[in-house]
Amino acid sequence: MFRHKRSVKTLRQNLPYFILIILLVSASLILWLGGDVKMSDDLSVRLDLSSQFGEWNGADIFFCQNEKCMKSFAAGELKGVNICKSCGSHLVLSWSLGEKNLLPPDTMLLKKEYSNKSGMVMLVTVVIAGSEITSIHRPQMCLVGQGYRIVAQETLEIPIKGRESLSVKVLKLLFQQPSQDRSVKELSSIYTYWYTDGERETYNNFIRSFYMLVDRILFGKMSRWAYVSITTSGSDVKGEIVPFIQGLYPVITGVRKN
Ligand SMILES: [Zn+2]
Repeated sequence: MFRHKRSVKTLRQNLPYFILIILLVSASLILWLGGDVKMSDDLSVRLDLSSQFGEWNGADIFFCQNEKCMKSFAAGELKGVNICKSCGSHLVLSWSLGEKNLLPPDTMLLKKEYSNKSGMVMLVTVVIAGSEITSIHRPQMCLVGQGYRIVAQETLEIPIKGRESLSVKVLKLLFQQPSQDRSVKELSSIYTYWYTDGERETYNNFIRSFYMLVDRILFGKMSRWAYVSITTSGSDVKGEIVPFIQGLYPVITGVRKN
């Protein structure tokens, strides 16, 4: 009896995974049989991040493509010259070398560094998926791959005017940065994210994959999901990050059609 109960519980716990596997197998079968999957023309977010909203001013960010340097600069520091101040290499807007190597070329990437008068800085990154499913993945994986340690995580409901609240995931990160005197500096930051296809929003990558598969199998369509993240060295989630996202939300979602 006990064993039976336990197996029912295990089955219930793993049910979402079984459903996902069944959907994956069906999707593969449809693709194998030559099913026609159309990439959606609808974009999930606006294609430009505004250079100003509320008290925030946004700057473009440029990345050094020299793998030994990889420094980044806000547009204001460069005064219109696209050359790395540290090594003299060519700079590229928004794309770091790591992202260029990792993400499929039809991925769209938007970045802006927003700052306000009190000196607070929020880095906004929007990844818009292309035709390959590898454009977007769980941030937990690539953050750890980049040397960050996730020390805490929580989900947060952010009230947004005129609609239901937006659910986001908040990660507290630590990064050990070696300095020139060989001591190690520990930097803390907060990383907040969610996914959207313009209609649906979730911070859960499993649910996002589920929506994607349903669209693919039932409607033969591939939605262009976007992955929005905000990084800050600030630590006040309720006092700083929540009001920032409330201001940013309409900036990101303003226009949804291509
Ligand atoms: Zn450089």
